[in-house]
Amino acid sequence: MSELRRHVYANTVDRSAIKKLVKRAFPRCECKKLHEQLENANRHKDNELLDLDEACNDALDSNLEAELQAVELQHQKDVDARVQELRDNKVNTGETERFDSALKLCTDPSENSNFAKSNSLDSVKRSVESESVNESPTDAQTVCVDFKSDSIEHADRQQDQRSTQENSHRVCGGHEIAMVTDSIVQELDLREESIATLLCYLELHPRRWVEVLQPVKSTCTIKFYGGYPQLRAVAQRIPPIAAAISLNNTTATGFKKSSTLTFPVVELADKMGWDLAPVCRELRALQWNTSLALDNSLSNMGQSGILVEFSDLSMHHRAPGDLSDSERDSVCDFLEDRIQAEERSQLQQLQFVYDSLKSVSCSEFWQCADAVDEDADKQLKQLVRSYFEDSNDKTKEELAALAKARKGAKSIPSSITRDDHVNWDIVARDIRALLGVHHDHSFTGRAVARIFHGIDSPCYPAEVWGRDRRFWRKHLDVEFNSLRKFATQELIRFR
Ligand SMILES: [Zn+2]
Repeated sequence: MSELRRHVYANTVDRSAIKKLVKRAFPRCECKKLHEQLENANRHKDNELLDLDEACNDALDSNLEAELQAVELQHQKDVDARVQELRDNKVNTGETERFDSALKLCTDPSENSNFAKSNSLDSVKRSVESESVNESPTDAQTVCVDFKSDSIEHADRQQDQRSTQENSHRVCGGHEIAMVTDSIVQELDLREESIATLLCYLELHPRRWVEVLQPVKSTCTIKFYGGYPQLRAVAQRIPPIAAAISLNNTTATGFKKSSTLTFPVVELADKMGWDLAPVCRELRALQWNTSLALDNSLSNMGQSGILVEFSDLSMHHRAPGDLSDSERDSVCDFLEDRIQAEERSQLQQLQFVYDSLKSVSCSEFWQCADAVDEDADKQLKQLVRSYFEDSNDKTKEELAALAKARKGAKSIPSSITRDDHVNWDIVARDIRALLGVHHDHSFTGRAVARIFHGIDSPCYPAEVWGRDRRFWRKHLDVEFNSLRKFATQELIRFR
């Protein structure tokens, strides 16, 4: 049993490792700061706008009469123009009529038509004037109403913007982050698949902390056969190269000597707000861009004298960088609970399988060698079915129990605690011997427990550590978590 349990413990990690992972997966970004600056600037602008609004309103109040007068005047002018037009027409018609009448030579001496027409013209003018008097205040009112509704709309829009800003308190839109697989595996002493699993847990969380992306090679190295002059010439024409140079901290003098450029391409693309794939494509294309070649012989061969290499396979994901400390803690809690629940439910399932098989097995082979035991067969089938049906619920149950325990700040005892027989003095002696032999290593309690259980891990591979039979698998009989806690205490005492 302890032999099989080893495999379950291999996937569990310390909280310190989880913290390291969270720190690496959610690097802090400047978005919040920038957003605050932007908001301050906006607020400043808004205030100015509001001031302007008020000034306008005041001006409108004080100048309302003037406005009315101006509107009236405008109408008066319009009316006058219309009247003039009409009058001109009338005069024209009048003249022709007069001409006609002159031709007729006083056939009708009482020519009142002209006078009558001018009278009617006056009445038209008067009616138009009365209209204009009626119209002018309503016009001013509509102008006023329009202005007010405009300012109300403006205020509404501002409020909307503010509320949406408050609702989506996550300012950061997320950054693409690449963690170099080898280095993170060594740093966390956790296998790649376990880290990938943890990232998937974060992705499946209701708040979807991260978005896992395809693994990429995150380091780009560009070699210029033409040396520094070519590097400079290319940087002036190709934006990613220029950005990479500005990202590199090396001073200009140090740079002059070098003809190679190495930079984290994912970080660069994220910083510049570019998509990763086109940037990589453009960088790769530099190799065949003959216009960049300094040497003619190279350009004739279709090469540019630039060598582009991508290295360091990395885990790639998108995550926000503006998590508050409490959010970071809750992410750590979530991962820790998840891992613990997984370990506990797996141990229970292992125990369940063991007990089940034991319950249907016979103590001697001859007891079941002759005939098939139908009852045991049915029972076993039933057990296997229930095992697979319950497997998900077990983890959920454990998760709920752990969440409850966390709220009450209690710890749940291990499901297997049979340490009565353990001689802790011998364990303590072995720990001290281990520390004495490998004094150049900084062990953790978990690492020591793993060595004593013979559990392979990236920092303590079985090929290397398994050779030392003095410690490897020495205390397989001691429950792993008790051994881990004891080793941690011993390590503290030893320092
Ligand atoms: Zn950000």
